[in-house]
Amino acid sequence: CKEDLRKTRDEVYATEKEDEETVACTPPPSACPMGGKWAERVLKFAVQSGGQLLSLVCSRYKIRFDGSVKSIPKGFHEQVAHSLLYNPALPKQPDGVSTCLRDVPGVSCFSLCFVEENDNVVRSVRVSARLGGEEAPFEAHVKACSNCGSCFSGRFQEAVSSHVGSGGWKDISARITAGGHSWSAIEGWRLCVPCFVNWTSKGVLDNAKRPSIAEATRLAPGHFSRSPPSPPNLHHK
Ligand SMILES: [Zn+2]
Ligand SMILES: [Zn+2]
Repeated sequence: CKEDLRKTRDEVYATEKEDEETVACTPPPSACPMGGKWAERVLKFAVQSGGQLLSLVCSRYKIRFDGSVKSIPKGFHEQVAHSLLYNPALPKQPDGVSTCLRDVPGVSCFSLCFVEENDNVVRSVRVSARLGGEEAPFEAHVKACSNCGSCFSGRFQEAVSSHVGSGGWKDISARITAGGHSWSAIEGWRLCVPCFVNWTSKGVLDNAKRPSIAEATRLAPGHFSRSPPSPPNLHHK
């Protein structure tokens, strides 16, 4: 049962946490056999599980959705799927974490790892979970915001646009001068549109409405973690 699986994972984490040498991130299950098909798989599952999370996403971004995957414009499928993985713009659960795939009925063993690169900046996440009774674990490795960890860039791109590939992400370089605040402190970061706009207007990362990566990992350490891409020694000693 789902709660048992969650509890086990939480306990494993709690045990590991006591040892500071251990990376606070469970290794993902074997590589996703579905490859790039993860988006359609998670969309289909979200519909089969009642569609509540899909409704939240689609109403937030004013996208057509009548309870079937087909009703969502094809060009938005992948972008909607990214919002299902983790998007801090969505309403919070009782534990303070934004509603995401973790909270879809039938999901177990949910684990989201904010992947820290060699320069200590997060630019992607690895999500793994079990979807209902499916044998093969679900896994996706996608771009994410360095500040809030969102898997969705925050702005839907028209399917016909040639910018679909970059998905609206803002990779901060020395050339950026928007807003009049200095960007040098976060050069090299990847920001979602809301975090980019926030810095443009205030020159800070803090956004009261948007939990940070640190907040998510603090609120739900059993499900959210931050770690280097390839932990040197998960099973130390
Ligand atoms: Zn990891
Ligand atoms: Zn962000």
